[in-house]
Amino acid sequence: MSVAAVTLRSMSVPVSVSLAADTADEPVRRSRPALSPSRAADFKQCPLKYRLRAVDRIPEPPSRAAVRGTVVHAVLEDLFGLPAADRHPQRAAELVPGAWDRVRADRDDIDQLVAAGGPEALFEEVRRLVESYYELEDPTRFEPHALEERVEVDLAGEIPLRGFVDRIDVAPNGLLRVVDYKTGRAPGPLHEARALFQLKFYALMILRTRDIVPAQLRLIYLADKVLLTYAPDREELERFERILIALWQAILEAGRTGDFPPNRNAMCRFCDFQSLCPEFGGTPPPYPGWPQQDSAPVELGLPDVRPPEDV
Ligand code: SF4
Repeated sequence: MSVAAVTLRSMSVPVSVSLAADTADEPVRRSRPALSPSRAADFKQCPLKYRLRAVDRIPEPPSRAAVRGTVVHAVLEDLFGLPAADRHPQRAAELVPGAWDRVRADRDDIDQLVAAGGPEALFEEVRRLVESYYELEDPTRFEPHALEERVEVDLAGEIPLRGFVDRIDVAPNGLLRVVDYKTGRAPGPLHEARALFQLKFYALMILRTRDIVPAQLRLIYLADKVLLTYAPDREELERFERILIALWQAILEAGRTGDFPPNRNAMCRFCDFQSLCPEFGGTPPPYPGWPQQDSAPVELGLPDVRPPEDV
């Protein structure tokens, strides 16, 4: 078994486009962006990328890795729906085809991501990742408190935070643990801050929805069998809250002015918006304006398949 357990250091913290008609004189009735860990990271990394995803909501094609990650999450959710004694590896492997059927039910664009011979190769990748899970936790020995929980809170009464928590565990002594599965590899030291940002984000949402500081936050990286854990304290989360408030104010100011500059960075090579990005010779579509404040907040444009950074 090659399992690494790491405790994070505390730190501060080719798209097809259908252009909307010019709506300058019309009220904009699109969903109001909300802040999720992914969208917050987008704005910090590249304001234009944030705009195209969260404001313009230009669809991005799902990647094979995102689909695989979504199926793994579905298998693990189904696994915990079984009686504890039945949650053994063989049973987990049998859950893969059903989870795949569920993921593809509403997405006719993901069949193209599996080989012409069918989804068996993808199934095998999913099974290997689920096998890795058994080297990190024993699902027969505990009962989750919640699975795939959508957490929503308006921070300071006005900043919409949204996120999905993969699993919440509550120990017999009442201590709460928040768990997030990742099907990629654990981040190196340079990218640790992003993982910690996500963990603090979840911890703050739990604090503001349940008035509980989680005893532990756990990221489970299945590809390399690594656990990242973090134990927050209230003061640190309150400092982080002030950082999120400042970040949201910066987003709202950009939303008011339409000034979302591109920021060329190491992740550009994975960005689906290069054809619309001035850094790569493209031109963004006309700014559609910030959505009305009375519309429902939505943080993601892709239903059913998780964004790549969330798998
Ligand atoms: S290609 Fe790079 S600079 Fe351009 S929108 Fe994407 S992330 Fe931003």
